[in-house]
Amino acid sequence: MAQPTVLIVGDTSTPVALEDLTAFAFDVADRLGIPARVAVGMDYDVAGYEAVVLDDSYLDSAPSTVLWVEATKADVCILTSREIYRYDSNDWCGWCGEEGDAAPVLVGDTWTVSMHAVCAAMTVEASRKAAAVTV
Ligand SMILES: [Zn+2]
Repeated sequence: MAQPTVLIVGDTSTPVALEDLTAFAFDVADRLGIPARVAVGMDYDVAGYEAVVLDDSYLDSAPSTVLWVEATKADVCILTSREIYRYDSNDWCGWCGEEGDAAPVLVGDTWTVSMHAVCAAMTVEASRKAAAVTV
């Protein structure tokens, strides 16, 4: 993985549940200042992530339980939503470092760190080009 990312784990069994989890992932990326990938299903190598963030309880869904057990075994840091909301929402741009009106941007299944719209347009475009080259 190109940069440290946290894996967001929760219920994705319905479109509404997936939407809720994606919204939670936005908060995680915004508050932790680290990209947040939404786990859909359980086919993830948790050891490749900085942390696993549980939206609710590890009993929330089958993937939540499986990925929580794997994270525990792999000794990966596990955070809960309660811990995430102890952090303040931040306005710093992860790209240019300036403060003000920065927000995470969804690229595929992953929220970037908070960025200005202009900075996001540049980096997201760059990462799409990079992805196009590798594919
Ligand atoms: Zn910026």
